[in-house]
Amino acid sequence: MSAEPEESVVQQGREDAPGAGNERVPRYEEERGGAGTPDNFQRLWTPHRMAYIKGEGRPTGAGGDDGCPFCEIPDMSDEEGLVVSRGESVFTVLNLYPYNSGHLMVVPYRHVADYADLDRPEYLELATFTQRSLTALRKCSGAQGFNVGMNLGLVAGAGIAAHLHQHVVPRWGGDTNFMPVVGHTRVLPQLLRDTRQMLADAWPAA
Ligand SMILES: [Zn+2]
Repeated sequence: MSAEPEESVVQQGREDAPGAGNERVPRYEEERGGAGTPDNFQRLWTPHRMAYIKGEGRPTGAGGDDGCPFCEIPDMSDEEGLVVSRGESVFTVLNLYPYNSGHLMVVPYRHVADYADLDRPEYLELATFTQRSLTALRKCSGAQGFNVGMNLGLVAGAGIAAHLHQHVVPRWGGDTNFMPVVGHTRVLPQLLRDTRQMLADAWPAA
């Protein structure tokens, strides 16, 4: 592990978003800096989102009554739940714990853990919405590649194992950086609600 002095950290992609004048940039972030390759998403530091990184508010149990967020999100407004698109059997939502800017999840409305238990309408629409997620992300962020897939079961790394979800993570050349490795955290560089609006606008028609 290199021990670069703080002063040498190159800060990229730090743009002030419109109306962001009253956002406080915490001393902590100023000292940590950041690195990465700019993409077309607008960036803004969102210190209140650190709560999500730290895992606050995650469900405590496996049942649908134990605060499963994927069961609660469909009852929220699109803006509140960060819902990008709603189908008959599945919906697409922004991840609150993004691996990368624009990290989407395609989720069945039904509280089901195993992909093998999806019925035909569910898995057909899950596939369709995965395709549309790729199209929307390419259109509004110029994504150059994707990681697509699901973690089934806690041992496989599922954060919310009881309710399956397909991850669609956009990738750009050089988008990994030292923060997840050294800092054990991830920089959340933008307002999620603005990203949601961009992706909803770019979502392909049926
Ligand atoms: Zn659920």
